Amino acid sequence: MVDSPLDAPIDVLVIGAGPAGAAAAALLHRAGRTVRIVEKQRFPRFVIGESLLPHCMDVLDAAGLLPAVEARGYLVKRGALFYRGSDRCSFDFGDAFTPGWGWTWQVPRADFDKTLADATEAMGVPIHYGHEVVSARFEGSPEVEVSDEQGRVHHLRPKFVVDASGYGRVLPRLLGLDEPSHLPKRQALFTHLTGDRRPPGQDEGRIWICIHPGQDGALGVGQAWLWIIPFSNGVTSVGAVSTPDFFDVFPGDPEQKLRAILRAEPAARDRLSDGAFEFEPRVLSGYSASVKRLHGPGYCLVGNATEFLDPVFSSGVTLALESAHRASGLVLRELAGDAPDWKVEYADHMMRGIDVFRTFVTRWYDGALPAIFFAEGKTPEISKQICSVLAGYVWDADNPFVRDHARRVELLAKLARSGRRDGFVATPIA
Ligand SMILES: Cc1cc2nc3c(=O)[nH]c(=O)nc-3n(C[C@H](O)[C@H](O)[C@H](O)COP(=O)(O)OP(=O)(O)OC[C@H]3O[C@@H](n4cnc5c(N)ncnc54)[C@H](O)[C@@H]3O)c2cc1C
Repeated sequence: MVDSPLDAPIDVLVIGAGPAGAAAAALLHRAGRTVRIVEKQRFPRFVIGESLLPHCMDVLDAAGLLPAVEARGYLVKRGALFYRGSDRCSFDFGDAFTPGWGWTWQVPRADFDKTLADATEAMGVPIHYGHEVVSARFEGSPEVEVSDEQGRVHHLRPKFVVDASGYGRVLPRLLGLDEPSHLPKRQALFTHLTGDRRPPGQDEGRIWICIHPGQDGALGVGQAWLWIIPFSNGVTSVGAVSTPDFFDVFPGDPEQKLRAILRAEPAARDRLSDGAFEFEPRVLSGYSASVKRLHGPGYCLVGNATEFLDPVFSSGVTLALESAHRASGLVLRELAGDAPDWKVEYADHMMRGIDVFRTFVTRWYDGALPAIFFAEGKTPEISKQICSVLAGYVWDADNPFVRDHARRVELLAKLARSGRRDGFVATPIA
C-alpha cells in the first residue's frame, strides 16, 4: 500500500514494475536514493517470458531480491534440452565454461513479477499501481506527467527517469527513439496446460526447445519451434514460434492450431497430448524491437524498453536485469555529481551481450546453430562454451563463443555440416 504522495520530491522515477523496474528501483533504494515506481497495471498481471537464465541470479542477489524469490518455491531449472526429431542435445548449466550459477528457476510471471514488486515495496520503494506515464520532457530537469485511474494528471519532477516500461516502450514512443528490428517478423502462439507427463527427478525443470517438423514433414530448421516450460504448481507453459504464415496453414481456432502443431512434433506429443489448456492460446506477434539510443540527459532505458530480440534462448529477463543493474550503477554516479560515459559504460556494454544473443538467434533460424547442437563431433569444451551463452554469461570475453561469436558459430557450423566427427573444436580460429 502506497502512503507516499506521488508528487513528493524524489531522486529517481522508475516507469514500470516488471523485473527491470523492480531490480533498478531496489538497487537505487539500497544505495540510499529516493525512488518511486509508477506502474500502469494492477499486479498480478499476465506477461509471457517464464524461463530464467542463471545469470539472472547474480542481479537478483545484488538487488536483495533473491530471498523473496527463493521463498516462492519455483521449479529449479538446471539446463535446456533441444530436440530435432530423434536428435537430442542437452545442456547442463552446471557444466558451463564461465564460473557462476549452475541453475535458476522456471517462473510463472504473474507471480514472479508480483514477488519482485512486493519485495521492492517492502524495502521502502513506493509503487503506484494504475498510474500511467503519458508524457515526458527532458529540456532542463525531467518533467513527467502521470495519469491515474480516475483520469487525474500528476506532474512529477524527479532528478532522473529510468524507463522500464517493457513492451509499453514509453520513452522510445514519446521521444521518437523507436527503431524497427532487423529480425523477420515472428509470431508466438502459447498457453498454459495441466497434465504434462514430465521427466522425473532433476530433469523435470529443464526447458525443452523442440524444432517443429514443418508442414512438409521435413525437419525444417527455421520453420517453427516449440517451448515447454514446467512450473512447480503442475502447470506447464507451451508455445510455438514461427513466421505468421506458418500458423495460417493450420485450420481451426487457436486451440486447434496449437494442438495440431504439438501433435506433429514427437517429443512434445509424448509429453503434452493429454494436457488440458488453462486458457485459449494467445497470439503475440512482431515483438522484436530496437531503439536509436539507450540513454539521454536525465533518462535511460532498461529491459524490454531497449531492444528485444526473440524468445528462443530465454534471454529477455536476463538482459532486463543486467541492464537494470548496469544502468542503476551509472544513475548513482550521475546523481553523485560524476559524469559517467553512458555510451561506453552502458550502451556499448549492453550491445556486446545483445550481439552475442543476436548471433545465436539469427544462426538458430538459419540452421547453423542446430547443426552445431546436434553434431556428433562436438567436444565437451564446445558444449561448455555454448552452455555459458545459454546461461546468460554473454559478457565473459574468455569464452570464444562470446569473444568471437559470429566467426565461431560460422566456422563450427561449416565443420558440423561437413559431417566431421573428430572433435572439431580443435580447429583454431585466428
Ligand atoms: C513469446 C515470448 C516469449 C518469451 N519468453 C521468454 C523467456 O522464456 N525467458 C525470458 O527471460 N524472456 C522471455 N521473453 C521476454 C520477456 O517477456 C521480456 O524480456 C521481459 O518481460 C522484460 O521485462 P521488463 O521488466 O523489461 O518489462 P515488462 O515485464 O514488460 O514490464 C514492464 C511494465 O511496465 C508497465 N508499463 C508499460 N507502459 C507503462 C506506462 N505508460 N506507465 C507506467 N507503466 C507502464 C507495464 O504494465 C509492465 O508491467 C519472451 C517474450 C516473448 C514475446
